[in-house]
Amino acid sequence: MTDLRLHPDTKEQVRQKVDIVDVISEHIVLRKSGVNFRGACPFHNGSNPTALTVNPVKQIYHCFNCGASGDAFKFLMDIGKRSFQDVVLDLAKRHGVAVRTLEPEKAQELQRQLSHRDQIYEAMGLATSFYQHALFSSQGREAHDYLIQKRQLTKETIQTFQLGYAPAGWDTLYGYLVQQKRLPPALVEQAGLIVPRKGGGGYYDRFRDRLMIPIHDTRGRAIAFGGRSLGDEQPKYLNSPETELFSKGSILYAMDKARDAISKTDRAVVVEGYFDAIALHQAGIQQAVATMGVALSGDQMRQLLRYTESKHIILNFDADKAGITAAEKAIAGFKDLVFNGTVQLRILTMPDGKDADEYLKQHDANAYQELLTNAPLFIDWQIEQILAGQNLNQADQFQKCSQAITQLLTNLPDTFIRTHYIHTCAQRLAQGNSYLALRLEQDLRRQLRYSRWYGNKPQTPTTPTSALHVAETQLLQIYLHFPQHRAFVYEILETEDISFSMSNHRHLWQMILDMLEEETTSLEPVEPFPDHLVQQLQTACAEIPEMAKQLHHLLWLDENSRVALLRPTMVVKAAIAKIQLVMGEKRYRHWRDLWEKTDLKANPELGHYYQTKIQSERNSILELQKQIEVTFADLTDTLGLIVEF
Ligand SMILES: [Zn+2]
Repeated sequence: MTDLRLHPDTKEQVRQKVDIVDVISEHIVLRKSGVNFRGACPFHNGSNPTALTVNPVKQIYHCFNCGASGDAFKFLMDIGKRSFQDVVLDLAKRHGVAVRTLEPEKAQELQRQLSHRDQIYEAMGLATSFYQHALFSSQGREAHDYLIQKRQLTKETIQTFQLGYAPAGWDTLYGYLVQQKRLPPALVEQAGLIVPRKGGGGYYDRFRDRLMIPIHDTRGRAIAFGGRSLGDEQPKYLNSPETELFSKGSILYAMDKARDAISKTDRAVVVEGYFDAIALHQAGIQQAVATMGVALSGDQMRQLLRYTESKHIILNFDADKAGITAAEKAIAGFKDLVFNGTVQLRILTMPDGKDADEYLKQHDANAYQELLTNAPLFIDWQIEQILAGQNLNQADQFQKCSQAITQLLTNLPDTFIRTHYIHTCAQRLAQGNSYLALRLEQDLRRQLRYSRWYGNKPQTPTTPTSALHVAETQLLQIYLHFPQHRAFVYEILETEDISFSMSNHRHLWQMILDMLEEETTSLEPVEPFPDHLVQQLQTACAEIPEMAKQLHHLLWLDENSRVALLRPTMVVKAAIAKIQLVMGEKRYRHWRDLWEKTDLKANPELGHYYQTKIQSERNSILELQKQIEVTFADLTDTLGLIVEF
């Protein structure tokens, strides 16, 4: 397989155009500190927000904790797990550097691909100024009046957002771009601006008699349009189709203009419509972006998080969408990030059924700022929604609320946060009765443990079937019934970063961890492995027959299992190796599948990357197989001894 060999000139030109501070701050928040910049290192798990130093003069970075260091290329290679060529090509594309390779025929192909994208950018740029111009001509009068009178936008705002007007004819833009500016029609079609007529023969403009709102990428280049109808035409909003440049789920409207304000104020405001965002910017609240009517995706959320250090996001819902179900839907793409506390998500619902745009017509920016400051955290907001309008003195309503709250709190993986909410919810439900509050708190805690344990997952079989199941079963049995080896099992699971794959095992392990945590919250000297652990679990199980059935073979050890576990250290090592082997084989198949699907001629470097992955996976599999054989031999030795006795 031949690698694509880049010409040294290309590498050097890219190196000169790229600034390491720009590159790194697209991934983490950097703050100026003397001549350098500092931020949290993305290459190790630490919370030190200044571990990574970026030196703009030398164009290098260095982490004091994990030692990660290098230049902009190295950073991008490591963070995206990409090859050097891949990184250089991508940067060349972004910075408009002509790519030269040591094989000229390949260079031409690459150059064609790059310039095609540039041409689409050009078409979008030309269309933007065409529409802008039309807005201030006589045919754009109605659109212009609408913006000034109805939306109360200033001339300056209209300019900043490059708002425009698509004239009413069928081919005015076509005439401008294709006939006047000589752009190929196919290209303008790929930009999503014109549509081929059915039955062949020519094109017509996609946007006609509409107010035009250009959508920009983070670097301020127009990549799509939203077109609002001025009369009764449906749809009210017509968006550009997905193109090479535009993918709706990964773009936030006004991100290019909000970036600086988000990092300065350390929080982002997310609204639904274009005009909500525009109105907020006009009022000086420039950390606002819009989702363009769709639910916020995980992709969009991660973009926002790059610019706020405290991960502070405020969702501003329209009043008609402010129900719990709508809120759940809106955060579905990044639910985990909210519940595990990565994102500090707050919910702002507008008073009197307004959206942000309407609100700002009657109130000033300070009033809106105050709403932002007082917006409750997502979980608190949900609890309020559950309790709103309920009479807790009525048994049925009380039960409904406590069930809904239990359901909500099961989402919280962090014990500290969960404990905090169990406490506050019990207080709320008890309405000042301190005895009841205490009882409720215990009750909630117990219910949570069980519903977390059950989840909504299908029940798994109780008899060990696969090698993986046997290995996991043995690890748990040793942990539970051989207290002197608990530290060893715990440590090896942690250091090898192994998690249980069977849901009943996973949940049992979580119960154990929860119990240990409860034990260690007292100020007594820490005794992390209490002897009564098994009895405690058995008691907990006895209350729920379904749970007892699934965990019986783990909590009550029969004689056969006891013999099989006779050399616990060996068994643990073999079990870990077996789990790693299964995981390694899975990864091996995954890389092989990817490799088989790769067009090796078109993508030699990708193919090469997959091959190195396959090779290293294969090596570690062989190594693990050897380990398992050795430990297995040791084990049978022991068993032989038992037979003799
Ligand atoms: Zn580090």
